[in-house]
Amino acid sequence: MTESAKPTPTDKPDIFETRESAVRSYCRSWPATFARSQGAKQWDEDGNEYLDFFSGAGALNYGHNNPAVMGPLIEYLQSGAVLHSMDMKTPAKREFLQTFQDLILKPRGLDYSVMFPGPTGTNTVEAALKLARKVTGRQHMLSFTNAFHGMTLGSLSVTGNSMKRGGAGIPLTNSSKIPYDDYFDGEVPDFLWLEKVLEDSGSGVDKPAAVIVETAQAEWLRALSDLCKKHDILLIVDDVQAGCGRTGSFFSFEEAGIEPDIVCLSKSISGSGLPLALTLFRPELDVWEPGEHNGTFR
Ligand SMILES: *Cc1c(COP(=O)(O)O)cnc(C)c1O
Repeated sequence: MTESAKPTPTDKPDIFETRESAVRSYCRSWPATFARSQGAKQWDEDGNEYLDFFSGAGALNYGHNNPAVMGPLIEYLQSGAVLHSMDMKTPAKREFLQTFQDLILKPRGLDYSVMFPGPTGTNTVEAALKLARKVTGRQHMLSFTNAFHGMTLGSLSVTGNSMKRGGAGIPLTNSSKIPYDDYFDGEVPDFLWLEKVLEDSGSGVDKPAAVIVETAQAEWLRALSDLCKKHDILLIVDDVQAGCGRTGSFFSFEEAGIEPDIVCLSKSISGSGLPLALTLFRPELDVWEPGEHNGTFR
């Protein structure tokens, strides 16, 4: 075959369109086939360079193929060390927990139990919701308008988007929505609705086990934290996307000076773009029975 007769990538039958499920989505917005990546850049098969502002929706805070991560990762993969361990002890898990304690928790004065809930963001949210319900004995959850917490049923029940919710195919119950900051364009003070329904026994909103929130504004977060404490409601911060340095500090709530009862981390926590998730909670909340929440890939 001469050089000019070589099929270009665009001549290939598009297996993505003929074989991959209609559920595919991001690849519809970005038709390029990305072949290489480094730092903030990606290259398609034809060598066109792209600046990656999407960054795996927050899974690549430290960049594509960061050498500081890839070196030790490749070394580990080739070393004959344990790759799959369920939740058994390995030196790697020890080193991770020790490092997370020494570099992330201790310097911030945070004392959280660390749970490995299964490798994705929605796994850590499910674990958080389950734990909050178990600790408080309450079923109801509060979440915010336009919140996104994941695609499994529990996470969907606290997610706003009606199209995503519709995909559940069953009623998504046991949750109410709170207007997010500035939902009424500043015409109504933030939290008016929340304060009112919590204090009004006629509101018809069952007392929740927890409020789950994606953070944004420090002042607002403080008020939410205070309100939760006042009413003995757990505060879950879903830091899956905003955590791991995304807002400057490691946790997105640090600047607000609050200590959520439960924190969800995923997306960038593995450092490499590979899946990993953590659920952090105050040790007093660690009421799990051994194996009560389980998973093959933790
Ligand atoms: C992405 C995301 C999730 C879900 O994570 P998955 O890994 O896609 O299940 C949950 N919460 C927030 C805030 C997210 O950004």
